[in-house]
Amino acid sequence: MNPQKRRQIFERLAAANPNPRSELEYGSPFELLVAVVLSAQATDKGVNKATARLFPVARTPQAFVKLGVDGLIPYISSIGLFNTKAKNVVALSQKLLDEHGGRVPRDRDALEQLPGVGRKTANVVLNVAFGEPTIAVDTHIFRVANRTRLAVGKDPEAVERQLVKVTPDEFRLNAHHWLILHGRYVCIARVPKCPACVIADLCEYTAKMRALPGTNPRVLPLKPPAEAAPRPRKATTRKASAEAPRKAAGQRRGTG
Ligand code: SF4
Repeated sequence: MNPQKRRQIFERLAAANPNPRSELEYGSPFELLVAVVLSAQATDKGVNKATARLFPVARTPQAFVKLGVDGLIPYISSIGLFNTKAKNVVALSQKLLDEHGGRVPRDRDALEQLPGVGRKTANVVLNVAFGEPTIAVDTHIFRVANRTRLAVGKDPEAVERQLVKVTPDEFRLNAHHWLILHGRYVCIARVPKCPACVIADLCEYTAKMRALPGTNPRVLPLKPPAEAAPRPRKATTRKASAEAPRKAAGQRRGTG
């Protein structure tokens, strides 16, 4: 994909959603960190439902350590992998207290040292809580980047490196949100909603016609077909010339 197209893609996504926001609800960098750790293989909606009950009870590392794993589990048992996540959240709270004065560090290496925090979570926290122009590549962004050919890569880290490299500076801060929301609501995994997509004419996904229901993807173009070409003049001439003698004969008969 050429740089002009990439720029146009971000311009369109930005015009459609000028101020994209995380769909996770949080009130501090620490709450965001907890919510992101809980969101692995879970929906933001499910996490928000759990944290709506949890955060009023515990919203600091001290409170989470005090709550403990057994105290935390009842609040997050509706979320997948809750046992592991409960252990990680309590352990990372303890580590924040022991090594960072109870604060979330604005540093990738330090974040990645926390239990349950990988590169993607660190990127989200750096981007959303601290305004760093990182691009966290989750399953949605991985799919959108590869499908559109905005940034092609075999694994999330390769896509992230490529995205960081090719995304124009002015779009890098919000690129994560634009792409994740696009993947979540439009360029969905099973049947992407190509007819409703604002970047359809820029996207290089060769199978995008599959999104059009009840059609043969291999023959139906994404754009409406051009108007039917006018009949060749030759045929008209032939018809006219075939009719001309009959007409002339009729005229002759009528007048004869
Ligand atoms: S045209 Fe289709 S495949 Fe391409 S980004 Fe849009 S929804 Fe995804």
